[in-house]
Amino acid sequence: MPRLVMKFGGTSVADLDKIRNAAAKVKREVDAGYEVAVIVSAMSGKTNELVGWVKDASNPPGANSPGFYDAREYDAVVASGEQVTSGLMALVLQEMGVPARSWQGWQVPLRTTAAHGAARIETIETELLDQKFEEGLHAVIAGFQGIGPDGRITTLGRGGSDTTAVAFAAALGAARCDIYTDVDGVYTTDPRIEKRARKLDRISYEEMLELASLGAKVLQTRSVELALRYKVPLMVRSSFNDEPGTLVCDEEDIMESKVVSGVAYQRDEAKITLMEVEDRPGVAAAIFGPLAEAGINVDMIVQNISEEGRTDMTFSCPEDQVALAKKALDGAAGRGEIAWRDMVTEDDVAKVSVVGIGMRSHAGVAQKMFKALAAENINIKVITTSEIKVSVLVERKYMELAVQALHDAFELEKA
Ligand code: ADP
Ligand code: ASP
Ligand code: MG
Repeated sequence: MPRLVMKFGGTSVADLDKIRNAAAKVKREVDAGYEVAVIVSAMSGKTNELVGWVKDASNPPGANSPGFYDAREYDAVVASGEQVTSGLMALVLQEMGVPARSWQGWQVPLRTTAAHGAARIETIETELLDQKFEEGLHAVIAGFQGIGPDGRITTLGRGGSDTTAVAFAAALGAARCDIYTDVDGVYTTDPRIEKRARKLDRISYEEMLELASLGAKVLQTRSVELALRYKVPLMVRSSFNDEPGTLVCDEEDIMESKVVSGVAYQRDEAKITLMEVEDRPGVAAAIFGPLAEAGINVDMIVQNISEEGRTDMTFSCPEDQVALAKKALDGAAGRGEIAWRDMVTEDDVAKVSVVGIGMRSHAGVAQKMFKALAAENINIKVITTSEIKVSVLVERKYMELAVQALHDAFELEKA
């Protein structure tokens, strides 16, 4: 029998009525002859609540040490949201006459690396699942979680249920992986920010990968990487209507493609500049080595010559990592590895990016982007480019305006 993976995100399983609605979609596919593996997220808001409890428990007010909790216990707590919804989904399916049982990550088992809080999937053993499918049982699998080499529960990073779904689709040889969510597909930009955003019928793996890694949280970046690697046809669709959705597929399977196909944003960015660092071989390694060791996700980097023999080094990172980044840099300075005149932090910036494979063969995208931002009087603080994207850092209060201006300038509302 053909197999199908169906993943339901937080809003799609937010309460029992929503779970029943999702289960009805599963039943429809079961009735159509599929063996179905259902992957569920926690109820919407649940994971945030659990993360909040972990922070409160390990970071009492006044301790001023964000991020210093035990990541293994963090995983033990935050993985619990998916345990609840997987059990409830199995119960509701049984109620509807669909034979089903729930599986936690460790029961499958889905094995991951030891990186608690941001683990990567290593293997999925499917023998037990295969056997149960044979017996006519459909699977409901808790997304977002697995088991590490230390035998303890791990989680795959926020939004990780998407990755669980694609990984199971690849491991089970599913015909397709359907990602059910609260939008009916991938749009030219986040429809919450730009009302005129247009749903795409198809998008290439490469573009989706860029959009996701630049902030479009409709799919977790890692899930798109896996879909690309294992050629899993991925469909993003709505839990709340029967519209066709967006197919994430090979570039060759897309007829027309525009130069720019989407705009993405990352709201909570920060920018740190070290003024007048010594300009010598090894200085970048001396700065970014300790940052990497501290687990800082350094993103954009700009180096500028300032005075004779001196250079200014600017980088961006997530706003909630600023304290940790400063600590790592101060530590390196304390050990005499690096020195600077001044450290300047701006924690009210956001990153806005345009993405499109058409950029490979068309010049002028960056210029059009800068013009559109200038027309709105938006100042650009940092610029980075790659083959299929241009990103800028702007003041956070202009982020929405920048997204809308770029959507307009590249006429993304038009098919
Ligand atoms: P789920 O809980 O189902 O995983 P998410 O909240 O993680 O859902 O992802 C869906 C959300 O992604 C949408 O509600 C939308 O606001 C946001 N989003 C951001 N960029 C895009 C985009 N380009 N297309 C569609 N949705 C987007
Ligand atoms: N529940 C997890 C989160 O909120 C995983 C997911 O929803 O994909 O990040
Ligand atoms: Mg999600």
